[in-house]
Amino acid sequence: MSFSINRNDRLNVFVEDLTHDGSGVAKVDGYPLFIPGALPGEEVEIQVGKTLKNYGFARLLNVTKASPHRVEPPCHVFWECGGCQMQHLSYEGQLVQKRKTVRDVMDRIGKLPHVPVHPVKGMEDPWRYRNKSQIPFSEQDGKVVSGFYKSRTHHIVDTDVCIIQSEEADELMSTLKHEMHAIGLEAYDDKTHRGMLRHLIVRKGRATGELMVVLVTRKKKFPQKDAVIDLIKRVAPEVTSIMQNVNDQKTNVIFGNETNLLYGKPIIVDSIGNIDFEISARSFYQVNPIQTEVLYGQALEYAQLRGNETVIDAYCGIGTISLFLAQKAKEVYGVEIVPEAIKDAKRNAELNGITNAKFETGAAEVVIPKWYAAGKRFDVLVVDPPRKGCDEELLKTILEYKPKRVVYVSCNPGTLARDLRILEDGGYRTQEIQPVDMFPQSSHVECVALMELE
Ligand code: SAH
Repeated sequence: MSFSINRNDRLNVFVEDLTHDGSGVAKVDGYPLFIPGALPGEEVEIQVGKTLKNYGFARLLNVTKASPHRVEPPCHVFWECGGCQMQHLSYEGQLVQKRKTVRDVMDRIGKLPHVPVHPVKGMEDPWRYRNKSQIPFSEQDGKVVSGFYKSRTHHIVDTDVCIIQSEEADELMSTLKHEMHAIGLEAYDDKTHRGMLRHLIVRKGRATGELMVVLVTRKKKFPQKDAVIDLIKRVAPEVTSIMQNVNDQKTNVIFGNETNLLYGKPIIVDSIGNIDFEISARSFYQVNPIQTEVLYGQALEYAQLRGNETVIDAYCGIGTISLFLAQKAKEVYGVEIVPEAIKDAKRNAELNGITNAKFETGAAEVVIPKWYAAGKRFDVLVVDPPRKGCDEELLKTILEYKPKRVVYVSCNPGTLARDLRILEDGGYRTQEIQPVDMFPQSSHVECVALMELE
């Protein structure tokens, strides 16, 4: 660095870019400064904060020339809460930004500049879309607080309303917070490891209206149990399932090992397209049901099934993608590491009268090589891994046995680009990438990529 930038310097800068977590980026003589709240195309006044060797941070003081895409964030806690990163950007602007994020990593990490990245498929109404909320509760100065965590902290930003979750979740979150002391129930305090209620989880089947409430408590037995069940039924008379999960550990992990039924059924039902799904408390289920249909439709289109294929659905969860594929394929083999999810998957196949989908519990990187070693062969492989991407062993297995088509569903464009590069080097060609906006207002973007063997 030939010039020097120091903490507390005040500067006027032009914002060139936006990071994946929603900070504006300005370069001062080539030195990048990250400015939360600033948008590309803006001229802003900033105060320099922490500076490191290769980059630094700055605070936004004033927007001198605003982006045409800047909007007033509709949520009153947007600037503190870490749940959303992009409410200050118009929805159209968010979609443009997300496509650019994918394009950038495909060029930089995937070395795939020629691969088309299509415009992001977005939502008509990008609010109140979440079918699941996981809401932490805590005690602060003798008062219950609940809401969502401030970005990168364990500090709860207290709120009664979250406009990306369901209205039922708002009602339950706020009523429980304001009335739980009256029935003698205390929120968990992570500093003293005392109190009872740690998390409230609300899950809704969009197509059926069924509602599940999960209370994560520090102990199994608590004297306010019946009173809390009554309160929940009063606030949400449509509730069909109340569950308890017990977590007695000093940990940030939400769930403990024990899950009990308190009221109703231990599952709720939802449907996507023409398929019904039973979902239990701990199973993974996509959080945006409207866009899930778009996402699975895209995966199915890329799979190009004609009816005689044998297909793998790796990281299958409760078998959602598998059952879609099964309607168009000869056979589908789903694999998933969480045993409860596989139980759900098998039950869901049965529930829908689907007999050509088989499911196995285990790590994809262990089970799939085993299938191949036993002589099974597959035409198409669909993968939908968690954020860290596919396990190396799984990629090796793909390159060893070379199914002719791979459809990669990904919630993390960075690891997607890394894995596509590995498969490209082994003989696959990425045909196209379709981003889908599963998480409006946040900086996350989901993609479906189609790869064919050369
Ligand atoms: N395709 C499903 C689930 C995708 S989420 C859906 O759309 O609903 C990713 C899933 O991968 C989770 O259910 C997670 O439990 C599972 N998982 C994580 N690591 C795994 C591994 N090594 N092998 C198999 N499944 C794994």
